[in-house]
Amino acid sequence: IRKRAVSFPAFPGASIHRHGSTLVVAEHEGGVIKPPSLSALAAATCLPDRDSSVSVLVAGSGPSLHQAASHAASCHSSISNVLVAESDKFKNPLAEPWAKLVHLSGGYSHIIAAANSFGKNVMPRAAALLDVSPVTDVTGISDSNTFVRFLNKYSYSFSICSFAKVDIYNDYLIFKPIYAGNALCTVRYTGANPCILTIRSTSFPVPQNSADSKSNEASISQVDLSTFDEGLDKSRYISQTSQDGERPDLGNARIVITGGRALKSAENFKLIEDLAKKLGAAVGATRAAVDAGFVPNDLQVGQTGKIVAPELYMAFGVSGAIQHLAGMRDSKVIVAVNNDADAPIFQVADYGLVGDLFEVIPELLEKLPEK
Ligand code: FAD
Repeated sequence: IRKRAVSFPAFPGASIHRHGSTLVVAEHEGGVIKPPSLSALAAATCLPDRDSSVSVLVAGSGPSLHQAASHAASCHSSISNVLVAESDKFKNPLAEPWAKLVHLSGGYSHIIAAANSFGKNVMPRAAALLDVSPVTDVTGISDSNTFVRFLNKYSYSFSICSFAKVDIYNDYLIFKPIYAGNALCTVRYTGANPCILTIRSTSFPVPQNSADSKSNEASISQVDLSTFDEGLDKSRYISQTSQDGERPDLGNARIVITGGRALKSAENFKLIEDLAKKLGAAVGATRAAVDAGFVPNDLQVGQTGKIVAPELYMAFGVSGAIQHLAGMRDSKVIVAVNNDADAPIFQVADYGLVGDLFEVIPELLEKLPEK
């Protein structure tokens, strides 16, 4: 398998090229940088022997882009420059134009984005355009070339292949964490610059005071897109549907209330929803609950669902299968309610209650004050 090298003109804004510096590719919404991108910024500050400056790339159009640029400029003291690419081409998270934009922003030693659907879509394409191999799903940074990441099913078999110059080959074939993400590997990146990383946002929490830790704001400059080669894109934006706007987003919520198969029906699952509403929490579900049709699959937490790390994770009628734990074990405080004292969820729970959820949840609903 060979990657196709694609030639593009050099990035026109040559002033942004700095050896040894880091670029964070950021998503924004409603004029603010999204939490996963703030985690990517936190990861950028973990790179030990980088230049002390970090640049942030924001793109899109309209007033919210400029608000997001101002937010980016003020959200961390390490940020020296915010690059604004203003064009309708970047209004929607389509991988092709974004990957070309990242490619044009060459000259950095590291380019980082969150390993969410945006980053997973854009960064491997950008890496292919830059003819480097991305290091994906990074959970730890040892030094500027050494990263901890989940061990993938094909990591071993391709370790001698190494044509893409990552010691342990990753992600161009099938990406499958093994042992439900319990096995980690340390990889050394030996390829050319830039080193492209996607990071697990749950492993790089955003410091509470990051928003106001900055006294001198970063500079904001426009990216010159006059030579941007639009080319022939293979995808087209049609529409976006988002979940119930009243509830916090599952991936970023401070509190997650999860229900399992024990809820028995979609109607009973409303107990979980009522409790979540009372606590201002997001709703999660096990795969068994999703497969049984109690809730849609975008609420699934786990190996094949969302990865969450809220301050409080409450699991009701959840056995604690390894595949479920893979999605929530980084939560700060885990509370489990299960009628089986031997349920594996109690091994990871900070607080466990052996009891019937159909008694416990109504009691909680009665006693908890309104949010
Ligand atoms: P169960 O295992 O049936 O557990 C129900 C629990 O509820 C039991 O512990 C029981 O004691 C308790 N209970 C029953 N009645 C009550 C009551 N009245 N009050 C209190 N407690 C009660 N699962 C995920 O969740 N997320 C994933 O991403 C995921 N990915 C997977 C990927 C693969 C490749 C595979 C093979 C499996 C995956 N699974 C995943 C499935 C996983 O293995 C488990 O089957 C699933 O998590 C079990 O869901 P559960 O805990 O709701 O159900």
